[in-house]
Amino acid sequence: MTCVVIAFVLAATTVLTWLALSMAERDMKAVIGQQQFSLLSLAAAHIDEQLAAKRLLLASIAEAVPPGQRNADGLRAAIERHAAAAAEFANVAAFDASGQYLASLRPPSQPNPNVADRNYFEQTMAQKRGIISPPVRGRVSNLPVVALTHPIIDSGGDVQTVLVGSIDLLNSDFFHHFNTMKPGKTGFMFIMTTEGILVNHPNKARLLEHINARPGLNLGTQRALDGFEGWMEATNKDGVDGIYSYKRLNATNWIVAVRYPTDEAFAPMAQMRRQAVLAASGFAAVAGLLSWWMVKVLLSPLQKLRNNLLAIRTRGGDIRLLRSSGRDEVAELSEALYELTAERQAAQDRLAESEKRARVIADNIPALVAYIDRDLRYRFTNEHYQFLLGQDPRAMIGKRIDEVFGPAMLARWQDCIDLVLDGRRIHIERAGDELERYLHLMAELVPDCAPDGTVQGFYLMCTDITERKTAELAQAASEKRLRLIADHLPVMISAIDPAHVLQFGNATYRRWLDIDPDTLPGRPIASVMGQAAYAEARPALEQAFAGTVTEFESSARLHGELRVLETTFVPDVRKDGSVPFVYALTGDVTRSREVEAELLRQARRDPLTGIPNRRLFEDVLDQAIERVRRQEYQLALAYLDIDNFKHINDSLGHAAGDEVLKEFALRLAGHVRATDTVARLAGDEFVIVFENIRHPGEVQLLAEKVMAAVAPDFHVLGAPLRVTTSIGIALYAGGSETAGGLIGRADMALYDTKRRGRNGFTIDSGQGLPEAVDTQR
Ligand code: GH3
Ligand code: MG
Repeated sequence: MTCVVIAFVLAATTVLTWLALSMAERDMKAVIGQQQFSLLSLAAAHIDEQLAAKRLLLASIAEAVPPGQRNADGLRAAIERHAAAAAEFANVAAFDASGQYLASLRPPSQPNPNVADRNYFEQTMAQKRGIISPPVRGRVSNLPVVALTHPIIDSGGDVQTVLVGSIDLLNSDFFHHFNTMKPGKTGFMFIMTTEGILVNHPNKARLLEHINARPGLNLGTQRALDGFEGWMEATNKDGVDGIYSYKRLNATNWIVAVRYPTDEAFAPMAQMRRQAVLAASGFAAVAGLLSWWMVKVLLSPLQKLRNNLLAIRTRGGDIRLLRSSGRDEVAELSEALYELTAERQAAQDRLAESEKRARVIADNIPALVAYIDRDLRYRFTNEHYQFLLGQDPRAMIGKRIDEVFGPAMLARWQDCIDLVLDGRRIHIERAGDELERYLHLMAELVPDCAPDGTVQGFYLMCTDITERKTAELAQAASEKRLRLIADHLPVMISAIDPAHVLQFGNATYRRWLDIDPDTLPGRPIASVMGQAAYAEARPALEQAFAGTVTEFESSARLHGELRVLETTFVPDVRKDGSVPFVYALTGDVTRSREVEAELLRQARRDPLTGIPNRRLFEDVLDQAIERVRRQEYQLALAYLDIDNFKHINDSLGHAAGDEVLKEFALRLAGHVRATDTVARLAGDEFVIVFENIRHPGEVQLLAEKVMAAVAPDFHVLGAPLRVTTSIGIALYAGGSETAGGLIGRADMALYDTKRRGRNGFTIDSGQGLPEAVDTQR
């Protein structure tokens, strides 16, 4: 900046000074030129005047000679009379018309000279008037002279005598005054004729020579010879500049001239120039200093900012050094830098924090996590490398895959690496021997794409799923076993979701319903079992979804046959109490129900005789009592006991006794109405429940009918046998009488019959004491 200011000020002052000086010089030159020309004009006028005076002197000499005395003596006398002649001319001589010398002021250097051949003489003779000759070498003086002539005309009009006054160009005072007008020290005046012959010159040797006798050209002189009057700058033949002024005389064809060397004329100018250069240098130096100081002052905040930045960058200074409360641009810049730096630092902190988190997460993931660049060099590795593969993750950074794990490992994974570097995401599960141990690895390779789509590298996440895979295989085997078992169970197994949609069904579906179990998942159970069956099963199913094991029996046609199905709904209750599934186990219980029914029937019958036993009798009696309470008909219970049965047993054997019992039961059952029930209570004790008795008298008839049925001989062991029985009949008393009460009364009536001698019946009508009926046969 300082240098620029110095250069600028220097250039400006130099140019300005140069321009000013040049203009001054130009003006000055004009002034000097004009001045010189004025002086020259004055000098020219002076010479004109002098020449006129000289010619006037010659004329007055001529006047002074009377026409009769125009001979040598007369002329000499006239010349000598004019005292001024000696002062004005080097010599004044008179010649006759033939040029012959007549007289002179000073004696001639040679006797009787003749000037008839002289140019000035001839001209004077021809023109018959005085002339001023060009400079010539005087015939009389042999010096360079200029001759002035004056003819004396005779009465006939011819030139009688010519007066010639000569001016010595070397010694005369004629040019003295003129020469003293020269300008300066080295300037000079000179005179030449219009032909270029030097009349007056400081170098006297050059007089009478042509101005261009010396080789070379002076443009000023040349122009003056061509007629120029005035002043101009020109270079002389020595190459030196000068101011030339030229002026022509009126009296003759002379050109008076003055030369003023420019160097001398402009010597003060040169001095001024030197001073100007000095001043300009001074100005420039001062301006430079000033600008240096100002720049220093102005840039001091920037310098401070620079120092602060240096301190922050190299010595770890606090960025708050950049804070500034100033209002100038640098302060704002500093503040902006602070904010930018603070933002960047915050961003870096966040990034570092996020990287730390990512590192902690990556290090605690039970998987190999790495970032690998295009050259297959590890750029990031997590701690799991140490755990799973025994590799120090830090030592891996910067190394290539094959450098760490060997070329064989790289070759195994090359296909995946090629694909991911091609920009594709890879998920792969691969089992095999990695690093001399069996590993099942699940790898995720994700390409790292730059914004322009090129792949910079890839992220790798690799999990050891060996254990899981082994467990999965074991589970699959176990599931297969279970499935095999489930499919071969004679039970229909289903899994039902809370929307009552089937999720699973075993092979039994095919066997029972001709439905392919593979088509079951997703089907609503209503569509499989039918709307009616579904409506029936629904309450039990909903209860199962509430968490209770429920059972449900239904009937269905399987292959056209009506079957009894028993379904157990088992809820799959999870820890949180939810029931995502209910398993339905449906078994065909038709056969067992049949067996059960048969067993039940058998339990209520007397196995020997096939008629109802005590249990069935009690039920029948209870129901009969229930019925009789709603009807106007009456009910009677007959209690029978075979007489002396022990004796039959004892005498004919137990088997014969059994035969008697069977026959006895057969006869009773064969002689009662369909609505009546015969049962064997135990041993030889039987009962008959008579229903629909319209009036008590009917009981008598019934008792007699029974007696009549037993009366014919039995045939036991091929022999007839007389069997009798005792009967006690009780008529239901109504009201609150229980079955037990009725049986008790019938038993009492039987006891009564036995006591009275057997083979008869006793009727207890339920009104007071049993009435004794003589039934003895
Ligand atoms: P009573 O005239 O007083 O009835 O005399 P009774 O000999 O018939 O004596 P009771 O009725 O007390 O005897 C019944 C006998 O029946 C006793 C027992 O040995 C016999 N008995 C019980 N159950 C059976 C059976 O199933 N088959 C045979 N053969 N005998 C039986
Ligand atoms: Mg008996």
